[in-house]
Amino acid sequence: MRLVFLGMPGVGKGTQAKQLSHELHILQVSTGDMLRAAISKGEANGKEAKSCVESGRLVPDELVIRIVKARLLEEDMKNGFILDGFPRTDAQADALSQMGESGQLDRVLSFEMDEEMLVSRLSGRRTCSKCEEIYHQIHRAPKQEMICDLCGGALIQRKDDHSDTVLERLRVYKKETMPLIAYYESRGLLSHIDANGTFDAVSQRVMAVVGANLRK
Ligand code: ADP
Ligand code: ZN
Repeated sequence: MRLVFLGMPGVGKGTQAKQLSHELHILQVSTGDMLRAAISKGEANGKEAKSCVESGRLVPDELVIRIVKARLLEEDMKNGFILDGFPRTDAQADALSQMGESGQLDRVLSFEMDEEMLVSRLSGRRTCSKCEEIYHQIHRAPKQEMICDLCGGALIQRKDDHSDTVLERLRVYKKETMPLIAYYESRGLLSHIDANGTFDAVSQRVMAVVGANLRK
């Protein structure tokens, strides 16, 4: 099964992707996580991406396309994947459609939620500096303040979760990524997911869509 998750920052698509990937025994490919890893390791790709990621702008298409293409060719991708955070522009969507079998998508899920809700979610978001697990100061507080429940790593506020950068990321999403909803709709691949409500409620909506696809 090859899936793409679209949605504004903070909509919870990463957390849903993680859960679904376990259920389907496929891997989640998050370009955001890959870029942050490259930045913290000081790799060349990371150096190129750093200023864009930290200010909430998109990293150049050429760079992300190159990273994703290489990743999707690896052996562990052959049962499928969930692309989380890619494609984000028309050029990326076109490039994906030309990646041979990897570009043959089964379904694209668009996670949708009120914008005011997103801003409050993102500004309260805390991320584990070691394993990238996501917390929220109010809605999903860790057992011990600023410590990851899973790995004991220190929780941090991502630079791009500061409030001015959050608004920039929402602006960029609307301008660059929103047109992909129509792009995939016209190809008969899109399902809208109401992303309001609890994690479990949203997860059931995701399963309903993916389950229908599995039976086909
Ligand atoms: P979110 O969806 O919450 O904004 P991500 O972790 O998906 O967070 O992405 C963080 C940042 O990484 C983006 O703001 C952007 O700078 C960069 N990035 C991730 N994926 C892409 C992509 N497909 N194209 C360009 N930039 C990307
Ligand atoms: Zn952790």
